[in-house]
Amino acid sequence: MRKRDLMETLAEEIRICRKCGLWRQRKNAVHGEGKLDAAVMLIGEAPGYWEDVKGRPFVGAAGKILDEMLLKAGISRNDVYITNIAKCRPPENRDPLPSEIETCTPYLVHQIRIVKPKFIATLGRHATSYILAKAGFETGSITKIHGRVYESNLLGFEVFIVPMYHPAAALYNAKYRDELDKDFRLLKLELERLG
Ligand code: URA
Repeated sequence: MRKRDLMETLAEEIRICRKCGLWRQRKNAVHGEGKLDAAVMLIGEAPGYWEDVKGRPFVGAAGKILDEMLLKAGISRNDVYITNIAKCRPPENRDPLPSEIETCTPYLVHQIRIVKPKFIATLGRHATSYILAKAGFETGSITKIHGRVYESNLLGFEVFIVPMYHPAAALYNAKYRDELDKDFRLLKLELERLG
């Protein structure tokens, strides 16, 4: 099957998924969007209010920050694939539970296999610890590990993992905005060097 068909079949599965309790309160499951041949995959945490309403990732306040960071770094949103660790919105935007992450991440694994990105930028601690652990790295606080590129073999192919703060962190604190800015610039430089 072609990538488009594989992703559409998967998206359909996600839209009707009832594998954890989050389906009860969702308006829409948010499977992800973007270029299926993207060199860069961005992985966030879970949909928030507007993502749940619109069924698209990063379209609320954190999405504005993300768009700004991408623009400043010279990366087009159309050239990346964006998804989340959890595909449904947790109530009150709480963190996804470990059991919800465990239940939902096979979808993410499938998406990574379809897109086969060269770079995975993990946004926030949930995405970072899940992906780094999967690639066999010890994880630590995002404050310590962001700003580095982890060369890895993930799911049988070479991927460069770039851990970053979650864009929502930059909403309230200029320090995180600067760090996020730097990390997106690093991503762009590595993309030019290796992409
Ligand atoms: N925060 C996330 O982690 N993902 C989204 O899609 C929106 C906000």
